[in-house]
Amino acid sequence: MSKYYVVHYAEIALKGRNKPFYIDTLRKNLEFALSDVEGVSVKKLEGRLLVEVKGDTNIESRIQKVFGVAWFTEVVPVELELQRMSEVATKLVLDSDCKERKTFGVSARRAQKSFPYNSMQIASIIGEHIVKNTGYRVDLTNPCVRVYVDIVNGMALLYTQKKKGPGGLPVGVSGRVVHLFSGGIDSPVAAWLLMKRGCEPIYLHFYALPSAELVLQSKVGKIIKVLSSYSPSTVKLVLVPFADYELLTSKQRTHEPVMFRLFMRVVAEEVAKKFYALGISTGDNLGQVASQTLPNIAAMDEGSSLPVLRPLLTYDKQEIIDLAKEIGTYEFSIEKYKDCCSIIATRPEIRVEVGEVNQEFERLGLKQLATKVLERASVATYDASRGAFELAKFGEYTERKVEGLKAF
Ligand code: ATP
Ligand code: MG
Repeated sequence: MSKYYVVHYAEIALKGRNKPFYIDTLRKNLEFALSDVEGVSVKKLEGRLLVEVKGDTNIESRIQKVFGVAWFTEVVPVELELQRMSEVATKLVLDSDCKERKTFGVSARRAQKSFPYNSMQIASIIGEHIVKNTGYRVDLTNPCVRVYVDIVNGMALLYTQKKKGPGGLPVGVSGRVVHLFSGGIDSPVAAWLLMKRGCEPIYLHFYALPSAELVLQSKVGKIIKVLSSYSPSTVKLVLVPFADYELLTSKQRTHEPVMFRLFMRVVAEEVAKKFYALGISTGDNLGQVASQTLPNIAAMDEGSSLPVLRPLLTYDKQEIIDLAKEIGTYEFSIEKYKDCCSIIATRPEIRVEVGEVNQEFERLGLKQLATKVLERASVATYDASRGAFELAKFGEYTERKVEGLKAF
């Protein structure tokens, strides 16, 4: 026996010429989220998607994590025949939890106008049948159960509930960003918000631990696993050792932590080239800590060839913590970890001169180092179906180009 779910999208309807691309991406993302469930197919219908699952697997918690889904529900598809539709609607009413109140309503909609009855007629014919066969009363304003009848693509979809999806846009439609990922509370939440607006994050992490393998076993690996449940493709994490930067700057450490931020941004630009990313992103927040003042943000962004996105810029710390708990990253983010930033940020400069930082950056040879560190970097890919990471050298890793957007 198959189960069926209808999936509705919200903003996609507004996307003009990109609409087919958005809908197709949502379809692929749903398929990816359900790839380990047997017998799944996702079909495009007029204005919505229909998911079929052979067998009894509960897939609702997965659909709930696919960005771009406005709402969804389990449906019963019925042939376009009023007697049959009435019988199914009656069963839905009797199966609902309304044995005490015994009131119902029917709400019909036609995406397909060729069906010879209009919405009012459909609702009243089905309603009459229910009254006759159940003794329940019609209440159009506040019924205990409402049966929805949507006529679409030559069939009727019947259901009684609408479940809220996560909203947003399908991951991938806004392109890729290289996301500076620390494993603290903020940067995982920022990555989630970027995914919500259709970006695919390529995670970039600078580590002070002795090896990339140890990083993957730490909270960094754990948080990436949580975030992967919202991601419709294999998650990629670029791991760069912090040691070279530490060595080069240890004797003359000025303008920290901005200098290190600038270094991370320049490395991110290099990484962006390999991954066809269109932007860089961070978990920065205005004024939360010393490095996150406007002058410091300006120094970090100066000369960037890519936009630097900061989705958490205006959030309060409590709002970020609440979101982190909801997403499922908070409990790992607060685990102890050997963090690069705690090594360098002994006495942070709150207000740096943009030009000075850049001059010093050049003088120290950090520009050259930004390319050189990638020789010792690695790319970890997370295969959710096996629950395991695979590591490759950055230089040996190749990435295929992603499909872009057409002009709006
Ligand atoms: P978070 O909770 O994300 O660590 P934070 O409030 O602790 O943020 P900082 O530690 O100052 O702030 O880091 C600011 C931003 O810089 C982070 O959100 C992240 O985008 C980036 N960042 C910091 N440390 C690293 C790192 N080791 N690797 C990659 N990016 C980092
Ligand atoms: Mg931090």
